[in-house]
Amino acid sequence: MPTVGWIREGDLDAFFEGTERTPDPGPPREPGYSCPFCAAHFPSQSEFQDHVYAKHRVERPFILLRGQEPSAHAVIRSPLSLSDIAVTNASHAKVCLDGALPQQVSIDTLRETIAATSQAELNLELVNATEQRAAPVVTHYGLSFRIAQKAELKRVEEAFGEILVSEAITRNSIGSFLADKRTQGPGREYASGLADYCLGIIIKERPDGESLTTPFSRYRELYGRALDILKDFPRPLARLITCIIRFSLNNFENGGGRTGYWELDLAIELLSNPGSAILACPNESVTRRPVCPIDHGTGRMLELSKHLTAQPRWSPILDDECRTLAQSGLLDVTDHQKALAIWAASAWRLGSTECALEPLTQIAEIYPFSRWASKYLEQAST
Ligand SMILES: [Zn+2]
Repeated sequence: MPTVGWIREGDLDAFFEGTERTPDPGPPREPGYSCPFCAAHFPSQSEFQDHVYAKHRVERPFILLRGQEPSAHAVIRSPLSLSDIAVTNASHAKVCLDGALPQQVSIDTLRETIAATSQAELNLELVNATEQRAAPVVTHYGLSFRIAQKAELKRVEEAFGEILVSEAITRNSIGSFLADKRTQGPGREYASGLADYCLGIIIKERPDGESLTTPFSRYRELYGRALDILKDFPRPLARLITCIIRFSLNNFENGGGRTGYWELDLAIELLSNPGSAILACPNESVTRRPVCPIDHGTGRMLELSKHLTAQPRWSPILDDECRTLAQSGLLDVTDHQKALAIWAASAWRLGSTECALEPLTQIAEIYPFSRWASKYLEQAST
């Protein structure tokens, strides 16, 4: 710094002069776009955008359990193996087990933790922090682990057989089933699914002894809740009940697998694909054991399909039987639809196209029966 006469440059001035240097600007830079994440430079905007998209994109991290992303409040009811757990786009995870302090863990540790947990509440944050100079992307999950041992599930089934299968179901018996000591603990979730199913039966049947104030249509809600819980248990009883519930709600998506309950398998086959060969009746001499209750409306439909598939020919008397059921004021609308569909499918199979027309026109617009009913109607009119 130049000085004049009496103004002396101090040591502080010398220090500041040393710090205030601007860096050498170097040769002039060509105009363009500099990447804020790395040192790359691009002459055109589209090249720059391609670069940022290809190199610095931070994707949302997620976890898949058995190929499905869990919701923010998911319940896990059957054991997961390491191969069931897939984590994508995550650099690490923060886990908080049963309200403990959150811990940062690697993805491998996270998968091992999930596979080893059977009873816990897990708060999970998956973090994708691969880009140093961008805010990490985080996904939150809340996982409730309610996995019971096989022996615990068996004890619940034992109580179910004793209390709700061998005796009549009432709200009292459902209450004592839920209060039984075999249904406490880790098997509770399974027991609550079975109890919801039985309560659904009572609401659907509306027996005189039970003064019910719940609207009739609430049985679907209870069936739906039972289905949601029971579908996760790898037990034959749970599988059978989920098939019965799907059948009663006119859901034939999961058809194909046999339940071993012959009448149900027959009716599912008849209603999902009436053109196929019908299951042969099993040996009647085999003794059968009741394993679960079934509501009378659904039971009536199983009997109807068994009765009609056994007929060698069609007649107006059979039309009349079906019409009575399809119009019965005591049956639910899903059972009315099923009665029409069983009527149509059976008459059609026996070659009585004329008689099949009446029910076919009524279900032609009703899913899932419309899948075959509209096709048959078209064939009949040509
Ligand atoms: Zn870059």
